[in-house]
Amino acid sequence: MRNEKAYFGAYGGQFVSESLMNTLSEVDAAFEAAIRDPEFLEQYHYYLKQYVGRETPLYFAKRLSEKYGAHIYLKREDLNHTGAHKINNVMGQVLLARRMGKTKVIAETGAGQHGVATATVAALFDMECTVYMGTEDIERQQLNVMRMEMLGATVVPVHSGSNTLKDATNEAIRTWAKTAEDTFYVIGSAVGPYPYPKMVKEFQSCISREAKRQFAEIAGGLPDVVMACVGGGSNSIGMFADFIDEENVRLIGVEAAGLGIESGKHASAMALGRPGVLHGMRSYLLQDDNGNVELAHSISAGLDYPGVGPEHAYLKDSGRAEYVSITDAEAMEALMETCKLEGIIPAIESAHALAYAFQLAPQLGREQSIIVCLSGRGDKDVNTIADYLAGKGYLN
Ligand SMILES: *Cc1c(COP(=O)(O)O)cnc(C)c1O
Repeated sequence: MRNEKAYFGAYGGQFVSESLMNTLSEVDAAFEAAIRDPEFLEQYHYYLKQYVGRETPLYFAKRLSEKYGAHIYLKREDLNHTGAHKINNVMGQVLLARRMGKTKVIAETGAGQHGVATATVAALFDMECTVYMGTEDIERQQLNVMRMEMLGATVVPVHSGSNTLKDATNEAIRTWAKTAEDTFYVIGSAVGPYPYPKMVKEFQSCISREAKRQFAEIAGGLPDVVMACVGGGSNSIGMFADFIDEENVRLIGVEAAGLGIESGKHASAMALGRPGVLHGMRSYLLQDDNGNVELAHSISAGLDYPGVGPEHAYLKDSGRAEYVSITDAEAMEALMETCKLEGIIPAIESAHALAYAFQLAPQLGREQSIIVCLSGRGDKDVNTIADYLAGKGYLN
């Protein structure tokens, strides 16, 4: 019988081996108890404040607003410890793992950002940490591999399939099925089998909870639009969470169109994917006619995922949220614009959301407001940016 609470409409579920079903039930029960326990919440909020550095500012981007013709606010997740929103979720999951008596954590990583966040929090709490990473990604993301190792984590190279995130995730799930007794699997986005999409949303919802209150204080009322980039969908679901019930607030998720969605080299699972099963969930997926998962492409490693979290699939079908795509070139232009006008170097992922905000703003009234989730900082991307600009002839 279908476990209704594991689904968002037709999406989600628990497509895992029999041996993991029990483990997922234990995680769900522990999570539900934890988020009702004032002591757990106090601990979580203590570390968010004292260690991660929350709350993050909601910054009115005056010069961008003047240029593009609507009020543009940036939710500064780039200012978190480790440089992105990912640690909000990792902190919650690792505290949950401790509460469950686990001594080890495992994680998958593509670009290395989630691996770094997990290695960071594991070091903080003296937990053994193993991170699965495709050999191709290890090659491309040397700096983050070094970071994880400095933080005491073991990075395990995964040599199968395309040697990237999809394959690392499969390996992490397989390993977990054999080690769940003492090991917690820290998933890095709003994906995977139930209860992960629900947990990740809960731990990222601090983004919208803060932004809603901050916006009311600064500007009064509610913003007209909130938007965020969508890889697996964690910063976006966190940015949407507290606004989903506010019917007058438009929710916009921005996927990576790579070289253009007609080029075949993109990561627009919502625009061009079809429902299918991957990593324990049913959701929109990039796949060929035979149902084989296709490789995603984006200049931003963090958006380079062939699927999307199941709640987003549901929000798309129900029409509550809109999903659009931004190309590599559009994102890079928005990135440079944000550097020059606001003195902020955004992550290339976040620049996708910025690019769409700049397209939308002129169509809105001058008095309308957009909140963009600035999911991370761009320091990690400087080499990619330099290569891109050199290729375009902007740099030598
Ligand atoms: C990982 C990452 C993303 C994409 O992941 P989501 O789960 O969709 O949020 C976006 N921005 C940054 C900075 C990231 O590190």
